[in-house]
Amino acid sequence: MSRIAIIGAGLAGLALARELRDFAAVTVFEKSRGFGGRMATRYTERFQFDFGAQYFTVKEERFRRFLQPSIDDGTLQRWDAHFVEIRTGVVVDSRQWGTEPEHFVPVPKMTSLARRLAAGLDVRRGVRVDSLKRRGTAWQLLDDNGAPLGEFDWVLSTAPAEQSAALLDGHSPLAESIDELRMQACFSLMLGLDGDPGLPWQAALVHDSPVSWISLDSSKPGRSGHASLVVHSANAWADEHIDDDPQDVQAALLAAACEASGLDLRRSAHMYMHCWRFANMPRHSGPEYLLDADARLAACGDWLIHGRVEAAFLSAAALAGRLLEFSE
Ligand SMILES: Cc1cc2nc3c(=O)[nH]c(=O)nc-3n(C[C@H](O)[C@H](O)[C@H](O)COP(=O)(O)OP(=O)(O)OC[C@H]3O[C@@H](n4cnc5c(N)ncnc54)[C@H](O)[C@@H]3O)c2cc1C
Repeated sequence: MSRIAIIGAGLAGLALARELRDFAAVTVFEKSRGFGGRMATRYTERFQFDFGAQYFTVKEERFRRFLQPSIDDGTLQRWDAHFVEIRTGVVVDSRQWGTEPEHFVPVPKMTSLARRLAAGLDVRRGVRVDSLKRRGTAWQLLDDNGAPLGEFDWVLSTAPAEQSAALLDGHSPLAESIDELRMQACFSLMLGLDGDPGLPWQAALVHDSPVSWISLDSSKPGRSGHASLVVHSANAWADEHIDDDPQDVQAALLAAACEASGLDLRRSAHMYMHCWRFANMPRHSGPEYLLDADARLAACGDWLIHGRVEAAFLSAAALAGRLLEFSE
């Protein structure tokens, strides 16, 4: 049986592991302590924030089939938010989300889907794969201290583009093709409020502003915490300000969020900002996964298609389908 190492326990890594686990000995390495990657949740004593992906839609039938058990057992629920579009502080469009399309969120938090998908898999959390080394026909994985993490026949990276390129560099020409892809950044500002802000909407797409998105995160199904807002910057704005003083970035986003929402958010009970250096990828054409069959190295993830949860799954499913041909 092949030994397969998967780097990353986001949606792509976990979907890949589940597709391959009946055909190979699969080990997943995840550098953070949790599951889910950019489908992330942060807590404080009073507040809870989904500070990466906000929700996702399902267009492809095979993604729906993959998710159906999680829909059936309530891990995934619909977020029927009142959605608005805002331009210079004015609501220019407004609609109620419902079935066309459905906007799914994991319950009770964004990481709940990944946790469910990880059940029964061998996931080594808190382990960052730093480099790969050839040992005969196998790949040895090494951690930050150069300590060996095991030997594998195949290594599949689901880390964001730049991080996958760094891992594969010197081992496969795949690294150069990844180098052409640039992911966009995003700042996520999390605001915990003392009471209900009284907003007439729960999700807002914001135009012509450093801010691109505001959600009343606590309005999602199954959330238990106090009122919480998540504010995301526009990707282009984040790329432009990525090296600025974080306090200046936070102040600019806060001012833009106040303007867009009409709320005075400066006295929020809790305020925290996270910077996603590799957050998003505009939709582009090209292969859905990258495979170097001679070297037995591959990469997949949303960044090969579009920065969306469904794209992460489709990329992983396409790679898994190709790899299963090798086991026939
Ligand atoms: C701010 C923000 C908002 C978003 N909003 C939405 C949205 O509303 N709807 C939507 O559909 N999508 C949204 N997305 C995109 C969505 O989150 C991604 O498309 C999806 O989560 C990508 O999954 P993935 O498995 O491909 O990658 P990731 O989730 O990035 O998983 C990769 C994993 O690899 C791990 N890793 C990296 N390097 C190493 C290493 N060397 N060793 C071990 N582990 C490593 C990382 O820790 C991570 O867990 C958003 C993303 C961000 C950041």
